[in-house]
Amino acid sequence: MDEERAEDVEKAMGEWQRQHPKATFTEIERALDERLYEVRAKLLEGLVKEREASLRRGVERCPECGSKLRDAGKRKRQITTTGDQSIAMERRYLTCPECGAGLFPSSGRTGIFGVDVTR
Ligand SMILES: [Zn+2]
Repeated sequence: MDEERAEDVEKAMGEWQRQHPKATFTEIERALDERLYEVRAKLLEGLVKEREASLRRGVERCPECGSKLRDAGKRKRQITTTGDQSIAMERRYLTCPECGAGLFPSSGRTGIFGVDVTR
């Protein structure tokens, strides 16, 4: 976590403590975790975006039939991560004009997700 974000959490927790002077250890811990999960999700979202943007833009072939894939625009996806935090993603989607398969270039061997060829 960068220092600025860590300070934000510290400040927010200081404020929370003033509003909850009788909080138990468990309650303090829970409140801290909630804020850390939010920061974690934001950092993760930024990292995933960076990875998606860095993917090669070369000709990609259908893993099913070998035809040249066509760009089918971007698809939005929500991922729920630790602490029930939601991460918004936009991924490029490719389809095969021959067999109808579709895939996300960010999946597979060079990607960050498992292979998810769709039909
Ligand atoms: Zn195909």
